[in-house]
Order: sequence, then C-alpha cells, then structure tokens
Amino acid sequence: MSEAANTTYAADYAWLPGGVVRDVRIRVADGRFEFVLAGAPAEPGDERLPGIVLAGFANTHSHAFHRALRGRTHDGGGTFWTWRERMYDVAVRLDPAAYLALARATYAEMALAGITCVGEFHYLHHAPGGARYADPNEMGRALVAAAAEAGIRITLLDTCYLTGGLDAFGHKSLGEEQLRFSDGSAAAWAQRVAQLGDLGAHARAGAAIHSVRAVPRDQLATVVAADASWPLHLHLSEQRTENEQCRDAYGVSPTRLVADAGVLGPRTTAVHATHLSAADIALLGGAHASISMCPTTERDLADGIGPARALADAAAPIVLGSDQHAVIDLFEEARGLEMDERLASGQRGRFSPAELMAALTDAGHAALGWPDAGRLEVGARADLVAVRLDSVRTAGIDPIQVALAATAADVDTVIVEGRVVVRGGRHVLGDVAGQLATAIVALVRP
Ligand SMILES: [Zn+2]
Repeated sequence: MSEAANTTYAADYAWLPGGVVRDVRIRVADGRFEFVLAGAPAEPGDERLPGIVLAGFANTHSHAFHRALRGRTHDGGGTFWTWRERMYDVAVRLDPAAYLALARATYAEMALAGITCVGEFHYLHHAPGGARYADPNEMGRALVAAAAEAGIRITLLDTCYLTGGLDAFGHKSLGEEQLRFSDGSAAAWAQRVAQLGDLGAHARAGAAIHSVRAVPRDQLATVVAADASWPLHLHLSEQRTENEQCRDAYGVSPTRLVADAGVLGPRTTAVHATHLSAADIALLGGAHASISMCPTTERDLADGIGPARALADAAAPIVLGSDQHAVIDLFEEARGLEMDERLASGQRGRFSPAELMAALTDAGHAALGWPDAGRLEVGARADLVAVRLDSVRTAGIDPIQVALAATAADVDTVIVEGRVVVRGGRHVLGDVAGQLATAIVALVRP
C-alpha cells in the first residue's frame, strides 16, 4: 500500500454535494480534502483523473465468506433456506487464516468496485463446534486485518446470534453448524465485544442483531445497550416466513418487536426490510433508521422487492449492500434499487440520480458510523472514485446518469483517505482474481 501523499487532482467532472460540476481541482492533505474547487481547470503539477470523480462508496452489508458461494449456488431450485445449507458447508471450513485470505481478496474486489468502506456483518465468531479461540475475537480481527491489507475501512458489525430459529413454540436450539456463531447469551456476547478494543484508524466496531429468529426478545436490550456510540444493524423481514414465525411466537411483526425492545433509532440500520406493513414502514421512518437494500442478493434468493420508496418517503435513509456477493458492483445495486421499484410500481424515476448517489456514498458511510466520509468537500475523509466515461458502457453518456450506465469495470482510480488503492483499474495487491481463486478453492467441495 502506498503511503498517503499530499496531492492535487484534476478531473473534467466531479459529483460534489450540490451535484455534478465541470473542471474540478481537489487537494488531498493528510488524508482529508484540503480544497475542492469547481470551474478550475487543471494546473501544472496536478495529477489528472479520468472521467467523473465520485465520493467513495459504502458497502453497508457484507458477509465476506459468502464470496466463496458465487457461481456455485444460483442454479436449480430451492429457496433461501436450501441456499443457507450450502452456505453452512463453507462456514464450517473457515479458520482465522482461511478467513483472512478470503476476506482480503473479497475486500480487494470491493476496492476495485469503488468501495472505500465495508460493513461486515460478522457472526462466524468461534471454532467449529463452538470452542473459543485463544483470543475470542480472533475471527473478527482477521476481518479487520483483511480490510487494512485491502486498503479500505471496515465497520466490524459484531453480530449476536443465539438461537437456531423461531416458530410458534418459541426459539429453537442451535444446529450443529450454528454452534460457532453463538456466545450463549447476549451478556456473554457483550462481554466478548467489550474486549475488541481499538481496532486501528481504518476500523471501528458496531453491534448487530442477527435477526428476530436468532436473538430472543428478552436478549435484545442487552445488545442495544452494549455501546450507544456504535452503529446497530439487524436483518429484518427478509422472508415472509420470518414474519409468520414472529407473529406465531410473539403476536407482532418483527419490526414491532424490535421497536418495542428499543432497537430502532438513528444509529440503526435494518437490512432488507422486504416484507413490511404500512405500520412497520412508519415505525422505521419515525425512528430515522437506515435501510440497507441488497437488490442483487434479494433477487438471487427470491426474497421479494422491499418498499424502498415508501421507506425513503417516511424519512428512512436508503443505503446499499452486496450482502452475499453474487455480484460486487454497487452501481448494479443502485440500479437494482431503482429498477425493482419500476417493476413493482409501474412507474419510472422512483429514485433520482442524486438519491442513488447519496445511497452509494454519504448515507452509506453514515450508516456505518463514518459521518465525515462519503462527500467531496473540504475536511471530509479523502476518499474518491474516478469512473471512466470512455468505456464501451459509458462513452457518450450524460455524467449525471453515471450510476445508471457504469459498472464496477469502469472504476479506474480509488483513493482511500489519501492512499491510492486502485490505479488504472488495478489493485495495489496485484492479481486479485488469482487471490480469490486460491482462497475459494481451499474452501469449497470439489
Ligand atoms: Zn445478510
């Protein structure tokens, strides 16, 4: 990784907080933006960037190890629940070294796609069977190290996962393959995460509730109370079955359940939020909880289409995640957000290009606990993404519609807090595809 250098960049276009402008000069000093000037042609000594310069993207929902399932689980029939069995086959083979190798390559793939910060929803805490590693946070630290080596920031969303499901008779005990996810109780989870300590300048901790299936109602408040300064994420109503099970067990929707337990607030992000009632939407919007939509995962798993526009109108910020990593391309997630809305509503233009850009950048960073990132403005963390406007996909487009035309392959340069991580479409780690292949072959069944 190159050290952060103080450099002035120049580009034909940039997306500033007020919109797209021409002829921009951007000065990076000590990892922050020192000046951002529009209508200022390049000067001698400036480093030219191609295309349009955007703020860094935040991938608000990731399970790094699911990258090993890409291209292996999309065929045939089955449901979310059969997919989950395949996912457990990979999970059981992961130890800290294998996790580090897979996550490093996966995060490098993210950097190549313009992602400068990842929210890792981490529940693979312990050894297979549930035995503790010498450092009970060893698996989480592997993810933090992976992000550092890949050159991006991480919010380690340490996830409380206690039970094996929910039905009318209550919470089920963990299956054999789920034992390594659990600390036994929310109090024990809180004790372990309290030992995370300082994770480094590129990393911060957050809390997560796996779902109302995996954390009983009487345990929720302990997770909420762990640290009031942490982001708090949870999977919410991804499946209709979850809603039915929650109603059978508790007599309320998952959203109502977590709202009553004090889970919802401005630091909360609900992931998926696919199957909601009008009352659920009002609760999430009233709490100003963010909503992490993961369209490429939701379509792959046949989850359904969530009410994104209604949630945004209710004052819940929309953010994006690649979740199971069938695709790591946040442009595709942003398009999925808009296009799924079109299919569901019969109307075009449900989210403006500016709203899609906010979901990709500053709203996403805020949901991960980095409110001073995701904007090209003076004082913000110096993350930027230069996207080519001369590829076969982007040639001739109106730059304001870049998120509706570009793909991850059009990302040319990525800078994270002043450090160049991707240049000319190549990651500083070198052959990321080769590193992915090596890491995945070691994990999957022949
Ligand atoms: Zn997830």
